[in-house]
Amino acid sequence: MNQSLAPMALLSRRGFPTSLKRKPLGARRSRAASILLALRAARPDSKVELDHGDPFQLLIATILSAQSTDSRVNQVTPGLFRRYPDPAAFADANPAEIEDAIHSTGFFRAKTRAIQASCKMLVARHGGRVPRTLEELIALPGVGRKTANVVLGAGYGIASGIVVDTHMARLARRLGLTRHVDPSKIERDLVDLVPKGEWIFFSIAGVLHGRYICQARRPLCGACLLAPHCPSRDRESKRAAGRPVNDRPNRPPARPRRSRDRS
Ligand code: SF4
Repeated sequence: MNQSLAPMALLSRRGFPTSLKRKPLGARRSRAASILLALRAARPDSKVELDHGDPFQLLIATILSAQSTDSRVNQVTPGLFRRYPDPAAFADANPAEIEDAIHSTGFFRAKTRAIQASCKMLVARHGGRVPRTLEELIALPGVGRKTANVVLGAGYGIASGIVVDTHMARLARRLGLTRHVDPSKIERDLVDLVPKGEWIFFSIAGVLHGRYICQARRPLCGACLLAPHCPSRDRESKRAAGRPVNDRPNRPPARPRRSRDRS
């Protein structure tokens, strides 16, 4: 065994590392600080991959990115923003034309409804500008904490929270920074461990690390600079190599069945 690497942590019954939860907050924060340093080394120039020119375009692009990929959205948005340059243009547009323009990003009807309703609210309540507070942003139709944190962090440079999408959720669990699956609970754990001044970087770099290295099915643990701090490294390496993995190592052994035949 490589002595420089941390020993395998205990796993919960759901297969999540449990070691961090058993340590005091200070120890967990210091471990999170090591992860942050490694993330800075791994992804020093992280930036969001959704092309945008201002917070409004980032808001629309983030709504479009749900259940889609950033590259797919980036194919659609240049033409979309030329045609509809501001909230008023989206609000007044024929919905069928927006649907047609964003069709390839999926869920185009629901996204069109969300975009138009949000843009109408931007015009009616915010003078056509994207607000700068989490509360005002999540009041917009189709905008949740994830989208609001993306827009405030990457669009305005305001640290309002930590972006928890599917990539961040997976990474945080594997790193033992949370045991939750609910995004708002994961975010609560993360903002407790990561200093506020690092929330924006951690959000962007963590999402990218989850997307490109700590992938869902085949995490690239051998190429991961966070590996020395990762309690899931051994298990995920095995899984990626197609070897059997016990996701419930702490499960009590099954009781032997009583035989009905007492003779
Ligand atoms: S070591 Fe593997 S499981 Fe851990 S963060 Fe890196 S890629 Fe993910």
